[in-house]
Amino acid sequence: MGNSPVNDCLVVGAGFAGASVARALADAGRQIRLVDKRTHIAGNAYDEYDAHGVLVHRYGPHIFHTNGERIFQWLSRFTGWRPYEHRVLGVVDGKSYPFPINRDTLNQLYGLDLDEAGAQSFFEQVREPRDQIRTSEDVVLNSVGRDLYEKFFLNYTRKQWGLEPSALKAGVAARIPTRTNSDDRYFTDTFQAMPSHGYARMFENMLDHPNISVETGVDFLDIRNSHRCRHVVYTGPVDAFYDHRFGHLPYRSLRFEHEHLPEVARFQQVGTVNYPNDHAYTRITEFKHLTGQEHPGTSIVREYPRAEGDPYYPIPSDANEALYKRYEALALSEPDVTFVGRLAQYRYYNMDQVVGAALTAAKRLLER
Ligand SMILES: Cc1cc2nc3c(=O)[nH]c(=O)nc-3n(C[C@H](O)[C@H](O)[C@H](O)COP(=O)(O)OP(=O)(O)OC[C@H]3O[C@@H](n4cnc5c(N)ncnc54)[C@H](O)[C@@H]3O)c2cc1C
Repeated sequence: MGNSPVNDCLVVGAGFAGASVARALADAGRQIRLVDKRTHIAGNAYDEYDAHGVLVHRYGPHIFHTNGERIFQWLSRFTGWRPYEHRVLGVVDGKSYPFPINRDTLNQLYGLDLDEAGAQSFFEQVREPRDQIRTSEDVVLNSVGRDLYEKFFLNYTRKQWGLEPSALKAGVAARIPTRTNSDDRYFTDTFQAMPSHGYARMFENMLDHPNISVETGVDFLDIRNSHRCRHVVYTGPVDAFYDHRFGHLPYRSLRFEHEHLPEVARFQQVGTVNYPNDHAYTRITEFKHLTGQEHPGTSIVREYPRAEGDPYYPIPSDANEALYKRYEALALSEPDVTFVGRLAQYRYYNMDQVVGAALTAAKRLLER
C-alpha cells in the first residue's frame, strides 16, 4: 500500500450505509476507497440468482418500504422499481391468519363477524391496560390482551430473540401495528417497492462512479494501520472496532435454509408465513412473491434464529443499550472516524433509515 494514492475517505462496508455514504461523497468530488470483508457488495440486502435461476435474498427477505420521499427519490437514481406490498400470514393451530392482527384475524380466529367498531370494542375488552409501556410484553398485552399475545407473539419472540418479551424493549413489538380494519398489508408506508433488477444491481449502479474504488474480501482490521485515507466511515459492528474492550455487544443471528422446489409454481399464498408456535424456524418466505419473477419452480427460505454467527440484529434491551453507550462515547470522540449504520450505531434500523442516516453523515462530512 506504500505507494498507493491517498484517498479522501475509506468506507468500511458495502451495505446500504457504506454504499450511500460513498456515493454521496463521490458525487461531491471526493475520492473514495470502499472495502467489504465479504466477497460481494450490498451487505445484508445482497440478492443473487440461485442454481435454479430464481432471484433470492441470501441473508433473508428484504422488502423496501419508506415514508421518506427524499430517500426513495435518491435511490431511484440507481434503480427502477416494481411496486410490491408485502403480506404475511401467521399459522396458529394449523390455520393461517392475517398478520399483523386485523379485524379479519379476529373474525376468522374466533368465528365472529365484527365491523371496525366491533373490532375496536373487542380490543377494548381483551386488552390489559398498562400504565407504563416499557417492554414488548407491555406493548402487546396493552393492545391485544393475553390470548392473542400467546397465540401470535410470545413464542415467536422467544424464538426470534432468545428472550422473553418482558426482557425486550418496547420498540421491538411497537414495530407491529394492530388494526381494526381489514388492511392486511404488512407495511403501510407511502413507498413500497422492490428494485426492478434486484438489490445487487442497484448497488452496482450506486458504486459505479469514477471516484469510487471497490474492494471486496478486504477486512478493515487487516488494513487499519496501513491505509492512507484522511477519514474513515465505518459501518461494521462498533464493538469490533474497539476490539470488544468493554465486552461483546449482543447481536442476534440467523441461519438461512434455502430450498428450491422444482415444478412448484407457488408454494404459499403470500410472501411470508410466520410460524410462531411450531418448528425451530420463525418464518418461510417465497421470493417470487417479492420479485414477481416468472419461473416454473420456486425458491423459499426458512429462518432459524441463533445466538452465534454473523451479527444481524442488535438486541434492544436496557443492559445492551447501556453497553452501547460506552462504545458510543468512544466513537463520538474520534475526529477521523464516522460511525454509521445498523451495526455501527447498534440500532434496529430499516434500510431506508440507514440510507437517511448515511446521507446525513455524508452531508456533515462535506460541511466540515
Ligand atoms: C433477516 C433480515 C431481514 C431484513 N428485512 C428488512 C426489510 O424487509 N426491510 C428493511 O428495510 N430492512 C430489513 N432488514 C434490515 C436491513 O438489512 C438493514 O437495515 C441494512 O442492511 C443495514 O445496512 P448497513 O449498511 O448498516 O449494514 P450491513 O448491510 O450489515 O452492511 C455492513 C457491511 O459491513 C461489512 N463489514 C463489517 N465489518 C467489516 C470489516 N471489519 N471490514 C470490512 N467490512 C466489514 C459487512 O461485511 C457488511 O457487508 C433486515 C435485516 C435482516 C437481518
